[in-house]
Amino acid sequence: MTIQLTERQELIIKIVQDQGPITGEEIADLIGLTRATLRPDLALLTKSGLLEARPKVGYYYTGKSLSSKLSEEIKKLKVKDFKAIPAVVSDKSSVYDVIVALFVQDVGTIYIVSEGGILEGVVSRKDLLKIALGQVDIHKIPITVVMTRMPNIISTTPEESLLAAAQKLINHEIDSLPVVRPVTVEGRERLEVIGRVTKTTITKAFVELGADKLIQRGERP
Ligand code: ADP
Repeated sequence: MTIQLTERQELIIKIVQDQGPITGEEIADLIGLTRATLRPDLALLTKSGLLEARPKVGYYYTGKSLSSKLSEEIKKLKVKDFKAIPAVVSDKSSVYDVIVALFVQDVGTIYIVSEGGILEGVVSRKDLLKIALGQVDIHKIPITVVMTRMPNIISTTPEESLLAAAQKLINHEIDSLPVVRPVTVEGRERLEVIGRVTKTTITKAFVELGADKLIQRGERP
């Protein structure tokens, strides 16, 4: 990504690269302008991460491009700060029940859970379309017959980076990832569904990034 810098900003960077650390006053003198005139330029260059200002020392060049700074910030974003409420149905449901739930909950993918919200399966729109196209009674077919089941489910965790979760969506060509936490049920390691990350989640994060809100959110403890 390239950000268009003005000629003056380019000149400031060149001066800091050659002579930094250097104070704002000194840069202003070299360019023949006042410190006040340069203030917005210096503010932008430090905010973007290209320059860093150290009190009593002056400005120095970080060597970081705007895009590497942006990528650093994106990597800090966690699934836990963006995940949505999961859309789940019981593993006792019929195919018909799940089709209804898909419409009522207005989602494209539903997670199938057993008692205690334990992840058993995933069902997508196309899984349901495929079975509904056959000559079968969808009221009688248990959803467990149709779902993609454990242990073949790709999931994410609250502490995983949103970028890693997005990469899983791309790599596995799926629309949604359950957010899970490990639990022990009757001595067995299981996964409890506590959220979801979908392509919409990633799109929302992207829009926030464009609106310049994301960086603050990423810095939240
Ligand atoms: P659609 O099938 O409606 O295009 P997806 O691309 O998300 O939706 O699903 C493709 C296939 O992958 C479906 O058979 C679905 O059951 C399965 N699937 C969806 N999400 C996951 C997941 N998180 N882990 C494993 N399989 C999944």
